[in-house]
Amino acid sequence: MIDYRAARLRMVDYQIARRGMTEPAVLEAMKAVPREQFVPEALRDRAYDDTALPIDNDQTISQPYIVALMAWAAELNDSHKILEIGTGSGYAAAVMAELGGWVTTIERIASLADRARTRLQRLGYANIEVKSGDGSVGCEAEAPFDAILSAAGSRIVPTAWKQQLAIGGRLVMPLGPLGDQQLVKIVRTGNADFTQKALVAVRFVPLVGGTS
Ligand code: SAH
Repeated sequence: MIDYRAARLRMVDYQIARRGMTEPAVLEAMKAVPREQFVPEALRDRAYDDTALPIDNDQTISQPYIVALMAWAAELNDSHKILEIGTGSGYAAAVMAELGGWVTTIERIASLADRARTRLQRLGYANIEVKSGDGSVGCEAEAPFDAILSAAGSRIVPTAWKQQLAIGGRLVMPLGPLGDQQLVKIVRTGNADFTQKALVAVRFVPLVGGTS
């Protein structure tokens, strides 16, 4: 019988804190979410490996370190309204929800969205709404967002995401062609003003419907 809690604490220490991501709130959130509940049953013993893992429908649950890095870069706090594109298993949404605030997450594959919604409810997350649909157009009805995080990569920054960011809001996403993506942080500093900074090279699945 694997001690998942011990494995989780080791993962946070070795894979995240010792790599320099030491923001206490993010570390606490990563310690709180039972990642083994978000991976296929056959891969449970690998839930805390330092890697992305396959989930259903040929998609992936992101590497823990990258989830932590994205949450940190997005500067999430408990009064924030957050949009995630690419719910997948729901793991990253749960980490964001642990940081507080309200998370809207959109998944284009309806069966994945349904399973994530059921899983997140079972685990008691009341501050996440899972929607099924095309997230490349964001979620106009609930904009503006303090933070937008995408788990799917695109060659361009979708215009809707920039428009749906609050002034001062952060957009964290994989940008660039497949095989040459960078995780970038874009900050809306004024109505038409944005800054952009590359954080690290990454490999994410393509944003379907966007220009990937
Ligand atoms: N955050 C997820 C990782 C999911 S991988 C987790 O923690 O498990 C990226 C997801 O983005 C996939 O499930 C894929 O189906 C979804 N996706 C790709 N293009 C999309 C789009 N246009 N709108 C919504 N979801 C999309």
